[in-house]
Amino acid sequence: MKKSYLLLLLYFICFTQTGFTQINNQLLSVIEQEVNENSQLEILAHELLDIIGPRLVGTPQMQQAHDWALTKYTNWGIPSQNEQWGEWRGWERGITHIDMVYPRIQTLKGTQLAWSPSTGKKGVTAELVVLPTVADSNEFNKWLASVKGKLVMISMKEPTGRPDYNWEEFATPESFEKMKKERDLYEDEWSRNMQRTGYDRRSLPLALEKAGASGIVTSYWSKGFGANKIFGANTEKIPTIDLELEDYTMLYRMVEVGDRPKISIKALSKELGAVPTFNTIAEIKGSEKPNEYVILSAHFDSWDGGTGATDNGTGTLVMMETMRVLKKLYPNPKRTILVGHWGSEEQGLNGSRAYVEDHPEIVGNIQAVFNQDNGTGRVVQISGGGFLNSYDYISRWLSAVPEEVTKHIETIFPGMPASGGSDNASFIAAGAPAFGLSSLNWSYGSYTWHTNRDTYDKIIFDDVKNNVLLTAILTYMASEDPDVASKERRALPINKKTGEQGTWPSPRSPNRKGGL
Ligand SMILES: [Zn+2]
Repeated sequence: MKKSYLLLLLYFICFTQTGFTQINNQLLSVIEQEVNENSQLEILAHELLDIIGPRLVGTPQMQQAHDWALTKYTNWGIPSQNEQWGEWRGWERGITHIDMVYPRIQTLKGTQLAWSPSTGKKGVTAELVVLPTVADSNEFNKWLASVKGKLVMISMKEPTGRPDYNWEEFATPESFEKMKKERDLYEDEWSRNMQRTGYDRRSLPLALEKAGASGIVTSYWSKGFGANKIFGANTEKIPTIDLELEDYTMLYRMVEVGDRPKISIKALSKELGAVPTFNTIAEIKGSEKPNEYVILSAHFDSWDGGTGATDNGTGTLVMMETMRVLKKLYPNPKRTILVGHWGSEEQGLNGSRAYVEDHPEIVGNIQAVFNQDNGTGRVVQISGGGFLNSYDYISRWLSAVPEEVTKHIETIFPGMPASGGSDNASFIAAGAPAFGLSSLNWSYGSYTWHTNRDTYDKIIFDDVKNNVLLTAILTYMASEDPDVASKERRALPINKKTGEQGTWPSPRSPNRKGGL
């Protein structure tokens, strides 16, 4: 009681001292009404995710998404542009079709990995082999000669296709413990054997390619039913595909027993040479302080096993919808409201790092960056990002957000500066007050993050709307604040391992020539 009274008093003092005049409550309530009753989220999601699809850097779909965003902003009367920051290996996914053709016919569930070489129209049909258990790299290198003309399965055979939560619900405790113990042993032995070969996950596919293998078959289970993570291939000439756990483990058992299964793969991607890469930038000019910025931030690119619905379709939707609502109801903000839809976040925050590097005049005058990038869930945590006085202004901005939204949010002050993970880190590294709006997970890590299951049906539109309302009001408050947000940094704690004082992350240059 006493503490909250003190906080209230403190707040009152700040409030009067800073001359923070008035929150326009009527405006806040029409914003809320627009967000809830005239939401454009579903149609935006449909156009972006169902029609354009995944947005892997360097693909024509990434370019279509940038162009689509410009059309949307133009229709809403918001000036926008695609700003080139680099170039990337151009590649386009084609049809992937994979069948077991021996000992029986079965169409398999799998896909080509990003940037994998094509099989050509004829496809590849060959027998499967698995990695041998070896004593050392000599033995492995001798075995390598036997892979000529074979498809090599290089992922571990998962002992179970049921996620742990499912075991926990139904197994006897003894049976669950036994499974985990056996799995640990098996995983351990797998990685020891991999070490003995002298190769790792990156170098092995190239060694197999060199030895004449006709393709690489992987399975990167994401620990949820039917969910696999789909990243990029490491081969240069032969195709690399990922099969879902059920099919992969079946084939693996067949190879182990000596059934000599054969599969046929068609993976018809295209190489498109070097293509330009962009960020889409749009802005509503400030009327009083046009050279100070509130930045809405969400990466626009995705991996391409699914359609990138929750990574980061939903963050993208939050920022686009917030811009639409603000342009309609708050068209003359005090500060400039700028949105950045960054390219190639997934390969190392490249688009946002390029923006920070290319725009020191903007980055030095940032009131706040709000970034969202961890799924469809309602925001449940906001950290002060290591800015000493973030408590003061973030609390003030949050005080205008409806209780139904803030009641889910835990705040952490002053928090720690993000050194990676998402695009707010690019801004923090340059000392700009940037904050991640962190979502409730909705099984993000296992089911949607970088998986073949990251699709429209996983979106929780009520939560995304909640996030639009939060972002719109935080943006309004940050824009109207009479004070410039303090950028004073906290002293970072001593690193327990090294005994040294922690240091603030420093800006890093992007990769401006990817995969070339
Ligand atoms: Zn992401």
